[in-house]
Amino acid sequence: MTTTTHEFQAETKKLLDIVINSLYTERDVFIRELISNSADALEKMRHETLTSEEVFDSHVPLEISIDLDEKDHTFTITDTGIGMTREELESNLGTIAHSGSNTYLVELAEAVKKDVSLIGQFGVGFYAAFMAGTIVRVQSRSWDGSQGHEWKSDGSGSFTITEMEGLHRGTRVIVELKEEAHQYAQKWKVESVIKQYSAFVSFPIKLEGEKVNTVQALWTRNKSEISEEEYTEFYKFVANAFDEPTYRLHFSADAPLAINALLFVPKENFEVMGFGRVDPGVNLYCQRILIDQHSENILPEWLRFLKGVVDSEDLPLNISRQSLQDNALVAKLRKVITKRFLKYMDEQATKEPENYLEFWKTFGIYFKEGATSDYEFQKELAKLIRFESSKSEKDKPIGLADYLGRMNPDQEEIYYINGPSRNAIESGPYVEMFRKNDIEILYTYEPIDDFVLSHLGEYEGKKLVSADGADLSLPKGAEEQEPAKDEKALDEKQQESLVDWLKKALENKAADVIVSKRLVDAPAMIVNPDGHMSSSMERVIAMSRQEKGMAAEASKKNLEINMANPLIKSLANLMQEDEDFAREMAMQIYDNAMIQAGLLVNHLEMVERNYRILGRAAQR
Ligand code: ADP
Repeated sequence: MTTTTHEFQAETKKLLDIVINSLYTERDVFIRELISNSADALEKMRHETLTSEEVFDSHVPLEISIDLDEKDHTFTITDTGIGMTREELESNLGTIAHSGSNTYLVELAEAVKKDVSLIGQFGVGFYAAFMAGTIVRVQSRSWDGSQGHEWKSDGSGSFTITEMEGLHRGTRVIVELKEEAHQYAQKWKVESVIKQYSAFVSFPIKLEGEKVNTVQALWTRNKSEISEEEYTEFYKFVANAFDEPTYRLHFSADAPLAINALLFVPKENFEVMGFGRVDPGVNLYCQRILIDQHSENILPEWLRFLKGVVDSEDLPLNISRQSLQDNALVAKLRKVITKRFLKYMDEQATKEPENYLEFWKTFGIYFKEGATSDYEFQKELAKLIRFESSKSEKDKPIGLADYLGRMNPDQEEIYYINGPSRNAIESGPYVEMFRKNDIEILYTYEPIDDFVLSHLGEYEGKKLVSADGADLSLPKGAEEQEPAKDEKALDEKQQESLVDWLKKALENKAADVIVSKRLVDAPAMIVNPDGHMSSSMERVIAMSRQEKGMAAEASKKNLEINMANPLIKSLANLMQEDEDFAREMAMQIYDNAMIQAGLLVNHLEMVERNYRILGRAAQR
């Protein structure tokens, strides 16, 4: 018999080190993980028997057996699933599949240290066997009928693989229990763990020869017969989770397609917690047979946070995973289910707005992603997005329907403005005119928000318009701002020559200088010339350049000036009396307006200029 010795991949070593050396209250987890691996292997086997002609050991029933030895202190789990070849043993049980990025591993290590039950969510469940075992042996023979092998390790650095005769198809994991884990050789203990975590496994689990689970597909049962507890347990089972779901949608349809779906929204969003992109969490079944686990096709990508199952009798049983991708029926299913889910969320948002806001805080980012990437569901998503506004409370964002309901019927457009915070927006120049005319304006705080709104384009026939655009038309009934006709007021000719002079003075900075019809108090503000990059886009670019240590002055913008503002009025005199100084003031006004727009200026130059201006003020 040939035996080979292999080192674990460095990342795996680190993980094993944590698993072996931590103290556990949640050691039960290892049973759940091993059962779940066996169930996966059996699902794959069931699928193979449908699609492949030749299967080794085709007569053995698909099932899981658990056997215990109290004297020798061993826990043994056997499945008749697809098994593993030599190469598969080496790579599947020696490396970590998703270990592409370094941060993934750091996060993983942190998470497992804090709460080892998270191990399954990272796709490294097998290694949990070392929470209970000193030595773990895996005997496996692939469904292709090739030579069987035994994998063996004590979890410290290396493992061996040895040829082994007499194996049936499938995998047997033998865990030699640590002293502190001897209880896992006791039937009552193991039975209670199975009942708690693995009740929904869709293959028989035999404990010492006795079947301990009822194999059932919960989603095909009548809603009225399913208890809350069963639903929650099922969620924990499919999501490999420990929390409770916040929303649940269980529905069935006969036309246009036969669908049975059970979808859950989890409580936590692992993606924003820094764990990297989550895998889709909904499994696709056909007549209770798993066709595609963590299916990428059954829901759009931006619903990857959902967990659950979709079962459709209309799908051909022997469909291959590759052909799911461009299968017209799958596309139809996706559309029906997505629309149904979004409708359900809209109903929930109306019924229990507080709960919906909680959801929005955690998962809203996915709906934003959907609105920017998927035209198909824009109408539905537009109803579900939430933003704060000049008429909302802080932290109580509103929907576009709320805005529409409050809006003056004459108003043609829905306005929004982006800024880093409520405070920053409200103290800036953009909202002055809206405040004065009592027109509601949405506040967007993330750069993606403006992409969302510009992608949507309109809501119920009302255009969505950013208030920092140069082409903003004033809402009907809004007053145009006119300078008071006092003795210091600038006449038309003076205004004209001030604008001409400013255009020259700011030649290198501004795209254009315009007399504002909307500023109330502030001397000036920046607006985005038509067809140019928006301020939001510019902020995103600036951020990424800053991260790379590259200075990034924003591109040229339009400067709107307020002819009623005293500073602007005195500038008209100053440009005649002391042109150099007037030019410095003009530049400072431009830079100030840029800062209020959240855009980058050359700060060194600005500070020096600012001191020169202050110096002059101090001489007075
Ligand atoms: P995950 O199951 O989340 O992929 P694991 O660390 O639990 O991660 O397992 C790694 C891989 O080892 C699995 O993806 C699977 O390919 C293989 N494997 C584990 N247990 C079994 C089993 N009982 N039968 C067949 N293959 C298995």
